[in-house]
Amino acid sequence: MKKQPALFISHGSPMMAIVESKTSRFLQKLGKSLTIPKAIVVFSAHFERDNDIVITAGETPKTIHDFYGFPAPLYNIQYNAPGSPELAKKIAERFEQFGLHPMLDEQQGWDHGLWIPLQLMFPAADIPIVQISINSSLGARVNYEYGKLIASLRDENILIIGSGNVTHNLAEFAKPTVGSEKRVKSFTEWVNEMVSGAQTESLLNYMNTAPNALFNHPTQEHFLPIIAVMGASETGKGELIHQDIEHGILAMNAYRFE
Ligand code: ZN
Repeated sequence: MKKQPALFISHGSPMMAIVESKTSRFLQKLGKSLTIPKAIVVFSAHFERDNDIVITAGETPKTIHDFYGFPAPLYNIQYNAPGSPELAKKIAERFEQFGLHPMLDEQQGWDHGLWIPLQLMFPAADIPIVQISINSSLGARVNYEYGKLIASLRDENILIIGSGNVTHNLAEFAKPTVGSEKRVKSFTEWVNEMVSGAQTESLLNYMNTAPNALFNHPTQEHFLPIIAVMGASETGKGELIHQDIEHGILAMNAYRFE
């Protein structure tokens, strides 16, 4: 059976759904380049649960338009990819074997961290998806373990995707301060170097070891999907497969882990 990679992608602004960009073209190509997976497991920055591990288990999750003040056409987009209650249950059982207590949520829909990139990668919306929540308060290592627990699904032709952003400081995005572009660049270059050099421990301690970590991630949810995906890889070594910086602030890099 075909083995799938684990991918990290930056989803950027919701505008990517309606305005073509370097990253939207990359995601379209990336989708076409992959062997069609049997299912996709997603860790999204916009599906965060602080106290629980939640796994989506609905058969037909709704599209959530979880953003405000954007043009009307964005709110009309529906991404009707099915869920997979069966795969959700299998993942939950795996977590339980390791003493964790995940909850299955049949009502949870697809957040925009999922559907904005996936409607570019897989426009037919016919591949079943399961999402696993991320958790900032428990720290990077716990999210890394979530990835590790599902790593072997890749052997069953299941694609694992983390969707966040390599840098994500929305206050700077709205109103950049002096030196912000340099601080984005130094952090982004550090991540590139650590990922390509399989520096897993450094990445797990990124808040202490990376230059300008807190500046680029005042909150952690957009970085943790990289950590989860790294957990799902064999060596922790990732290949930089796309890079761009939008508005000098949002690093849109993507990495492929085997
Ligand atoms: Zn986001």
